Formats: sequence, C-alpha cells, structure tokens
Amino acid sequence: MQNRFDVIIVGARCAGAPLATLLARQGVRVAVVEQATFPRETLSSHIFEADALAFLDRLGVTERLRATGAPFVDRTDIRIEDFEIAMPWPRAPGDTGGMMSVRRHVLDPILADAAVDAGAEVRMASTVVGLSEEHGRVSGVRVSCANGECELRARLVVGADGRRSTVAALNRARKYNVVANQRALYWGYFEGADPGEQPSFLSHRWADRFVLAIPTDAGLYQALVWPEMSELARFDRDHEAVFADQIQSCEPLARAIAGARRVGKLYGAVRWSGYFREASGPGWVLAGDAGHFKDPAPGRGIGDAFRQVDALAPAIVAGLGGSDANLDEALVRWGHWRDRDFAEHYWLANDLGQSGTVPAVLSEIVRRLNEQGKAGSFLDLLNHRVKPSRLLTPARLLGATARLVARERGQRRAILGEVAALASQDARRRWLNRRPAYAAAELSPANGEPTETHVAVAPERAHQR
Ligand SMILES: Cc1cc2nc3c(=O)[nH]c(=O)nc-3n(C[C@H](O)[C@H](O)[C@H](O)COP(=O)(O)OP(=O)(O)OC[C@H]3O[C@@H](n4cnc5c(N)ncnc54)[C@H](O)[C@@H]3O)c2cc1C
Repeated sequence: MQNRFDVIIVGARCAGAPLATLLARQGVRVAVVEQATFPRETLSSHIFEADALAFLDRLGVTERLRATGAPFVDRTDIRIEDFEIAMPWPRAPGDTGGMMSVRRHVLDPILADAAVDAGAEVRMASTVVGLSEEHGRVSGVRVSCANGECELRARLVVGADGRRSTVAALNRARKYNVVANQRALYWGYFEGADPGEQPSFLSHRWADRFVLAIPTDAGLYQALVWPEMSELARFDRDHEAVFADQIQSCEPLARAIAGARRVGKLYGAVRWSGYFREASGPGWVLAGDAGHFKDPAPGRGIGDAFRQVDALAPAIVAGLGGSDANLDEALVRWGHWRDRDFAEHYWLANDLGQSGTVPAVLSEIVRRLNEQGKAGSFLDLLNHRVKPSRLLTPARLLGATARLVARERGQRRAILGEVAALASQDARRRWLNRRPAYAAAELSPANGEPTETHVAVAPERAHQR
C-alpha cells in the first residue's frame, strides 16, 4: 500500500466520501481514513432534500438509493401553529425527487463505495491520532490501525471527521458564533405504517410541540419529536411513553401509525451546539460538520455537507495545480464562501429549533405567501435554494405586522414587542456575521467519543463540547 497521496481525507461519511469521489474523478490521488467499519450507525437522523438528491444523482448513486426501498417524497403536510397546508415539495428542473430519508448505516456505505469506485483508497478501521508537519505546514497524518501505527503523507489533509474533529483540535481551529440547542430530538421507526397514497413529509409545529415524520428505507416509517428542554425530566422517566404521547398528539401521524408496530430502539440527542469553525490553515481544511454544524431542525446537515464539498473539490483541484501558497489561498477563499453561503441558513436553523411558539408575524408571512401561491419559496429555504433574507424582507415583515395588529387589536403591544425583538436579533446576527464571536480553541481531540454509536441507543446523550 502506498503512503503518499495528493489529499488525505479523515472521515468517510457525508462530507468525506463524496469529496473523495469528486477528487478521484479529477485524477487526484486520494486516501480516506475512517475509524469505523461500515455499515455502522451514527447518531443522526437522515432526512435530506431536493438539492441533496440532485447532488447524489451527479454522484451516480440514485439507483442504489432507490434499491434501499426509501421512496422519493414529493409532498409535504405542514402545520405552523394554526396554519396548515398540504402541497408538493418544490423541485427545480432536473431534480430526481423532493426529499428522502435513508438511515445512515444504509446511506453512508453507498457514499463510501462510490469513493472506492472512483479510485480513492478508503482505509476503514483506521484512526487518525496525530498530524505530521513540515516547514510549518501539515504534511500528513499518523494513523492507528490493527497493524499498528503508520504515517500517510499528502499536500493537503481534509478534516471531514465530524463535530468532534481530531483534525480541527490538532490545528487548534476555533469555533465561532456558537449557539446551544433549545430542544432535544428523539426518533424511532414503525413497521406497517400507512402514510397514505403518496409518500409525504409531515412537519407540524404548534404550541410547545414539534413533530416530523417521513417514510424511510426498508419499508419503515420514521417519526421524530422535538421536546423542549423543560420536558426532558419526563422523557428520562419513561422515554417510550412520552415519545408515544407526543406522536399521538399529532393527529395525521397518529392516523398513519394506528395499525403499526414500533421497532428497534429509540434514538435521541439531548445536547448539541451549532457553530462555525475556522475553515483552513497551511496544508489543512475542514469540511462538513468538522467546520460547521447547525441545529438539525431543518434536516440540512447531510445536504450541507454535500454542498460544501461540491464547492471544495474544484478549489482543491485548482489549488493543487499551483504552489502551496496558491493552495492555501484557494482554501481561504472557499472558507469565506462557506461562511457567506451558510450564515443566514445557520440562523434560520436556530430559529426552527427554538423552544416556544413560532412568532406570530412569521406564521403570518407564510400564510400570506401561501395566499399568493408562493408557499413553495418558503419550502425552498429548506432546499437551500432561497436565502432567508430574500423571503423575510422588511416589506413582508411590515405588511404582516400591520395585518396582525389590525386583526388582533388587543394583542397590539405583544405583537410589536415580538417584532422589535426579531429586528434586534437580526441586527445582532448581521453584526456576528461580520465580526464573529470566537470560542476558545479545543485543545484535545476526542477520539474516544466521536459521533459514532455501536448500536442504537435509548436514549443516547450527545454531550455538548
Ligand atoms: C441528533 C442529530 C440529528 C440529525 N438529523 C439530521 C437530518 O435529519 N438530516 C440531515 O441532513 N442532517 C442531520 N444531522 C446532521 C448530520 O448528521 C451531519 O451534518 C452529517 O453527518 C455531517 O457529515 P460529516 O461527514 O461531516 O460528519 P460525520 O457524519 O460525523 O462523519 C465523520 C466521520 O469521521 C470519522 N472520524 C472521526 N474522527 C476520526 C479520526 N480521528 N480518524 C478517522 N476517522 C474519524 C467518524 O468515524 C465518522 O464516520 C443530524 C445531526 C444530529 C446530531
């Protein structure tokens, strides 16, 4: 086995494997180093949208996705407080489908196989434990595997190694604009559910409740609940019963699973934080969750990992064609693009995962968009095809405020207070986009505690770092 490559990628899931595929197809010599052996679970739900499906189609894995039994989901049933709508999921020309849900121990091996097929060398059961440096640049990785320790060398090391990234920690990459979650997430699977004639994605948020459901692979039906933190003590006492209670409170979901059986364990994540991390340095770059993680409420992590590496691959190929300085500059430019491209969606993800009710003025904007036949553009936020600022414009905010105040005169003060709070939050976020608030660098990699789980857990506690 050779030990010298153009690029070494640490991590073989949603960011690492597709990046390896794209690079290997361009003739780049790529090694992927992954500590797990696949198929293996990871603590993540697995809903992704039209843009991700289009990317996977370009990767050439659509037929393999189809073979998992997961349907392309082209309809959605949305509830935001007292506003409900059922409609097609928006698609762009050439899209293969609206949404899909494929469990990660099924999806990730498909991605890793594509990398092997493209010519990347994928080494499983191999853990990166250190970095090599030469002339002030990262020049390779030290890898621990069953045969002992070895060194692999390359011009570039990519940390696609998830939220607890070893590559980030060893390079002292700082996080910024860190935000803690306000709801937990539990999900489970049903056999024999009846989700209706056409596969549909259900997303209902009302009062303190937030519930999602979607058909997934192998004929299973996935249901997710997002309890507020104040509910966790109740979940701890009997998570199965409280999970069932929350699901039953969503009428269409209760109907879909009326004759179904809950199978497997309940998965759960209780604590996480969203962040950006410094994206690159001499000889290294971070991709996927290693560099940026957002609240999973919009179900965007998988699609965002694809989006990141889709832009990173050409930057790497161009950079490798020049000097080390050229390569570093290309990665810095990519990092700036990443921050610009994801900033607004990052804050949106925080909003979607917030506790409490949806601000009345935001429900009103969606209601009006629907009256104007533009509800699809709201859903296109989740396809990462419309920026929140293009949809939630000052004019729409003012119009919605005026309508609400006229309709609910007694609530005038509360409505104006809510709008003022949103405006001030928006101003602060814009400031942070330009002048990030840095957290202290993490000084030690957490190889013993990655996002992996050996088996389904009930419930897993995902600890914040
Ligand atoms: C509770 C929860 C629910 C989520 N739900 C969704 C959802 O429904 N839809 C969605 O799109 N996204 C969801 N996400 C986000 C999604 O899981 C991530 O965005 C996505 O997994 C990012 O992929 P990645 O390849 O960057 O990282 P990961 O999937 O974390 O992969 C990193 C890989 O690196 C490997 N690795 C780590 N350290 C080393 C090392 N030292 N040496 C070798 N290998 C190493 C790990 O073994 C792992 O395989 C959710 C996340 C959470 C926490």
